[in-house]
Amino acid sequence: MSIGRAMLACSGAGGALAGLATAAIVRAPMGGLTAGGAAAGAFIGLLAGTAAAAPAAAVIGRGVERLRRSLLDGEGEDGPPDKLTRRLVGPLMGAIGEFRERTRAETRRATAGLRELEVRWRVSESERKRIESTLDSLRDAVIVTDNFDEMTMANEAAAALLGFDRGACERRPVGDLISDATLVRLIHQTRESGSLSGRKTVEYDLGGAPGGQPRSFDITMACLADHSGEGVGGVVTILRDVTREKEISQMKSDFVSQVSHELRTPLASINAYVEMLVDGEAKDESSRTEFYQIIKNEADRLGRLIDNMLNISRIEAGIIQVERTEVDFVEVAREVVEVMQPQARLKNITLLVRGGPSVYTAQACRDMMHQVILNLVSNAVKYTPEGGRVTVAVENDDASRSTLVTVSDTGLGIPPDALPNMFQKFYRIENYKRVAKGTGLGLNLVKHIVETVHGGQVGVQSTVGMGSKFWFTIPFEAGGRLAA
Ligand code: ADP
Repeated sequence: MSIGRAMLACSGAGGALAGLATAAIVRAPMGGLTAGGAAAGAFIGLLAGTAAAAPAAAVIGRGVERLRRSLLDGEGEDGPPDKLTRRLVGPLMGAIGEFRERTRAETRRATAGLRELEVRWRVSESERKRIESTLDSLRDAVIVTDNFDEMTMANEAAAALLGFDRGACERRPVGDLISDATLVRLIHQTRESGSLSGRKTVEYDLGGAPGGQPRSFDITMACLADHSGEGVGGVVTILRDVTREKEISQMKSDFVSQVSHELRTPLASINAYVEMLVDGEAKDESSRTEFYQIIKNEADRLGRLIDNMLNISRIEAGIIQVERTEVDFVEVAREVVEVMQPQARLKNITLLVRGGPSVYTAQACRDMMHQVILNLVSNAVKYTPEGGRVTVAVENDDASRSTLVTVSDTGLGIPPDALPNMFQKFYRIENYKRVAKGTGLGLNLVKHIVETVHGGQVGVQSTVGMGSKFWFTIPFEAGGRLAA
C-alpha cells in the first residue's frame, strides 16, 4: 500500500480523522511508515469502510487493535518501533480512538434514524395504498400532478379514460401521457395560477374511444399545497362523465315541450267550441249536440293523454305497483276482443282470437297485459279500413321460454322510414293523423310495460298496404327491472 493510495483512502473516509491522518503521514519519514505496512493496509481498509454502515465501528475496533499491536507493541514482522514512530503514531492512535467513539455514536444515531425513516416509509406507503384504493373505487377519473406537471398518482378510471399505462405513469410528464392537449393545458394553467383557494370547474367534451362519440365531462381542478403549506405543490384533476345527465336533461326538456304541445291541441279545440257555444254560433240543437260531442271527445283525449303520461312516468321512475299472477293470455285476449267488438262491428272488421288447446300462461301483471293487448287491438281496428280483419294469436315460444302474443291486421301498414320510430313517445305517422285520433303514447306505454316491467320484448313487421303485425313476448318466469 503506497502513501498516496493511503491518503486517497483517508480522504474517502472523510471528516477530521482523514485530515489528521494525512498530516501525520506527510510529516513521517518513509521508513517509519513502511515498518507498519501490513497494519496500515488494514487501517486504510477500515477507514474506507466507515462510511458504509453499522458494522464499521467493530471493524475499526479490530483494525485499531491490530495497528496498535503492530506499531506500538512491536508485534508485527518489523519488530519494536523506534522512538520517532512512537512519537508520531501515539497521537494518531488517540485520534483514531476518539474517531472510533464518535463513529460508534454516529452509527447508533444513523441506525436509529434509519429505523425511523423505514417506519415512516412504511406508514406513507400504506397511506398511499389506502389513497390509491379509495381513488380506484371512484367512477370519476382522478389524476394528481406535481409542480413539474408530472403524474404522481392516477386512478384506474383515469388510466382507462385517458388511455395511459397506470403501471408506468408515475413521474412522467402529463403531456407524454395524455394526448388531449386542452386537458394538459388546463392542468398547466391551474398550477401556474398559483391559487390555493378555490377550485375551477370547466365543462369539456373529450373524444371517446376511436370512432365513438365524444363524451361530456365536468373537469374540476384544484391546486395542492406544497410542504410549506404556502406554495403550490401540484394539481388534482377530477373528470366526471356528465354525458348521460346532459342527455336526460335534454330528454326532459324535449318531453316537457312535447307534452305542452300535445296538451295544448285538445285544450285549444275545447276552448274554441265552448266560445262558439257562448257566442250562440250553434243555432240549432243538432249543431249544439255536435259541438258538445267534440268537446267531450277532446276532453276524453286529454284524460287519456294524462293517464298515459302518468303511467309511463311511474314506470320510468320505478314507482309503479306490479302485482304478478299466473296470467292466461288467451283469456285476456278474449276479454279485449269483447271490449273492442262494437268498434270493430262499426267498420265491419272481423276480430278474432287464435290460441291452441294448450294453456298459455306467464308470470305477469294481468291489468297491464290487458292494457297492452287493448292498445294493440285498438290501433289495429283504428288503422284498418272497412271490411278488414284483426287477429290476436297467442302461442308459446319455447326457445325464449316466453309467451308470444301477436296482433295482426289487414290495414294501412307502416312505411319503412316510420318503423324505427313506432315505439317512441308522441310519434304519430303524419298521413294517418286524419285517419284516427290518438295521443302517440299508446305504443310507448306498451314498450314500457313489456320491456321495463316484465323483461319481455316488443316488435313490429309491416308492409304498406298489406297490414301490420305487432308482437310482444313475456317470459314465463317473472323478469324485468321492476321484477319483485
Ligand atoms: P296513437 O294510436 O294514440 O296515435 P300509438 O303510440 O298507439 O298512438 O301509435 C303511434 C302511431 O303509430 C299511430 O299514430 C299511427 O300513426 C301508428 N300506428 C299504430 N298502430 C298502427 C297500425 N296497426 N297500423 C298502422 N299504423 C299504426
